[in-house]
Amino acid sequence: YGDPSQKVDYVFKVVLIGDSAVGKSQILARFARNEFSLDSKATIGVEFQTRTMVIQHKSVKAQIWDTAGQERALLDFHFFLSWTFLVGSTTLKSDYNPSLEGYNVYCRRQTTGNPMYFDRYRAVTSAYYRGAVGAMLVYDITKRQTFDHIPRWLEELRGHADKNIVIILIGNKCDLEDQRAVSTEDAKEFAEKEGLFFLETSALNATNVESAFVTVLTEIFNIVN
Ligand code: GDP
Ligand code: MG
Repeated sequence: YGDPSQKVDYVFKVVLIGDSAVGKSQILARFARNEFSLDSKATIGVEFQTRTMVIQHKSVKAQIWDTAGQERALLDFHFFLSWTFLVGSTTLKSDYNPSLEGYNVYCRRQTTGNPMYFDRYRAVTSAYYRGAVGAMLVYDITKRQTFDHIPRWLEELRGHADKNIVIILIGNKCDLEDQRAVSTEDAKEFAEKEGLFFLETSALNATNVESAFVTVLTEIFNIVN
């Protein structure tokens, strides 16, 4: 898993995104430390882990970012138009208004009434995507909804990240074949249409986790060389 004194030729930042509980943190644990845990805690705060690999005789340090349990907030970004803003004690029922940025804006979704801190969300989002050259878009093959949300994640990614970012679609938990709710063909077709790489993985038994990272890192490597 890499000699820390090794000289590094490249550092590539890769972000993990997708709905909560699809297995992002476990995919990262498998890749970075060859570990897996069945009762993993939800990720708190943005964190990243690194692993250095050799690609075409060069040493490439992969810096993999895992979300802060902000999944819900990131996804909800697209529904601002129907949100109610609370500025201090004042309620603003408003379209998304960029001039509100920089204020202490709390927003809450009309349907749930669950308040969220808007400024903080914006700051986290841009820091998360800044400088990313690769993205792993993860869904859970046993949960249809996590696949149905992929187009929104893609839109979010394309709105915030570099245009040339290398993206791989990952159907995780492929060890749970008997609970499969998303066919390989559907996912493959979607990936082809959107120009994404695609693999099904299992963080539990390590299937394709290494390949998924190698695919993304090699493609990035080829683009920069
Ligand atoms: P995250 O919210 O996307 O980071 O999801 P986690 O990595 O925390 O995983 C959520 C749950 O799914 C945990 O209970 C994991 O142990 C489990 N899990 C993650 N990957 C796999 C997998 O490949 N197979 C199975 N069977 N369970 C998994
Ligand atoms: Mg997590």
